[in-house]
Amino acid sequence: MSTDLKLTPLFTKEQIRLKTREIAKQVSADYREKKPVLIAVLKGSFVFLADIIRDLSIDVTVEFVQISSYGSAKTSSGTCTFQKDVTVDIHNRDVLVIEDIIDSGNTLNFFLNHIKERNPASIRICALIDKTVRRRHDLTIDYSCFEIANEFVVGYGLDHDEQFRHLSGIYELTA
Ligand code: 5GP
Ligand code: MG
Repeated sequence: MSTDLKLTPLFTKEQIRLKTREIAKQVSADYREKKPVLIAVLKGSFVFLADIIRDLSIDVTVEFVQISSYGSAKTSSGTCTFQKDVTVDIHNRDVLVIEDIIDSGNTLNFFLNHIKERNPASIRICALIDKTVRRRHDLTIDYSCFEIANEFVVGYGLDHDEQFRHLSGIYELTA
């Protein structure tokens, strides 16, 4: 149970803050004169999204999707389904996907294939954490705050069994 779990600090709230500000600045510059649709993948990305949008100097549309993938709690399999699909019209819009973690890339790959059918003007990816070594799909991550190997992390919106989302830093969780 939770008493056996160990949290080791990886990134402090100050380190995260610096990165999210940097990304917000970059996104504001890249989408100048545009109004992108930011699609945040729930639940893990809600804190990240909240920090990013408050440092933007451009207007955006905010949308949420929720995708579940079958597999164990700590890894995802290739089978994904929508708990909540995109409801705003993204045809001819610039889409920026906001993800918490991209690991194997299964979830993102599924989602990208789905939104491409709606013919957006462009699609870019913004991730809090990029686990590059475990990637199984050829994906370009346009903006990312941190790269890690295969640590399992929690905090800053990320959970383990719905626990630890409230922590302001990012921690490695070990048994
Ligand atoms: P993928 O489909 O890329 O293999 O897995 C991506 C999803 O798995 C992430 O969006 C996240 O929900 C979950 N995930 C992957 N690694 C971690 C991790 O270290 N911590 C947490 N809390 N979730 C993770
Ligand atoms: Mg996720």
